[in-house]
Amino acid sequence: MLVRDKRYKFLADIIMPNSCAFCGKVIRWDALLCQDCENDLPETFCASVAIGNCSGMWSVFVYENEIIDLIYKLKHGGSVYNFAELCAVKLGEKLAENGVADKIDAVIPVPMNIRKRIRRGHDQAVVLAKFIADELGKPVDLTCLCRGSDSTEQHTLSAEERDTHAKEVYFANEGHTDIKGKTILLCDDVITTGSTMSACAAILKDMGAKEIYCVSAAIAASNVEKEE
Ligand SMILES: [Zn+2]
Repeated sequence: MLVRDKRYKFLADIIMPNSCAFCGKVIRWDALLCQDCENDLPETFCASVAIGNCSGMWSVFVYENEIIDLIYKLKHGGSVYNFAELCAVKLGEKLAENGVADKIDAVIPVPMNIRKRIRRGHDQAVVLAKFIADELGKPVDLTCLCRGSDSTEQHTLSAEERDTHAKEVYFANEGHTDIKGKTILLCDDVITTGSTMSACAAILKDMGAKEIYCVSAAIAASNVEKEE
C-alpha cells in the first residue's frame, strides 16, 4: 500500500500525527502543508537545463535553502513522504498543463548505487517515482536501468567528468520490459548538470523508447534562468 493511500494516512495519523512537509508543524491527517508554508511556498518550476535525448524537463524546486534539507531527509529516510507527495502533485499539474501527462506510458527512476541503497534502506528516486506514477495513474518500471557500484561522488566531478562518468556507470538491464515505442518519464531527486538524465535517456532510447521526459524534485541553483 502506497503511503499516500487515504486509509493508511488516516490510521497513521492516529499513531504519529501528520506533519507539514516544510516546517514539521502538526497538520490535518490528509494535508501536505500547514497554512503558513502553503502561503509561503518557494517558487516552483523556475529553473531548467538542456538535457540531451529528452523532449522536456521539469524540476519543482531550486536546490537551495530548506529544499537542501528536505532532499537530504528524503535521501536518508527521514519522514518526508509529504514532501515527495507535494512534488508529485506539482509535477502532475505541470505535466497535465503541458499535455505530457497523458502521453506517459511508464515512470522510471534513475537507479542509485546499490551499496548506498542497502546502507540507507531505501531509494529516494524510487520513492518519488512511485508518488509521481500514482499521481499520473501510470506504472513504475524498475526493470530497465542499472547502475554500476562505483563509489564516485558526483558532486566532486566537473561538468565534463560528470558526462563521462554518467555514460560509464549506467547501463541497460538484461531482461528488461519491452519499452519499444513508449513514452517514458525519467525521474530523479536532484538534477545538477543533466548528465545523468541524458545518459539514462540515451540508454532508454537505445531500448526503443519513443520519447523521454525528465522530472526531478529539485534542480541545482546554477540552472536558475537569469532575467535579462
Ligand atoms: Zn509548515
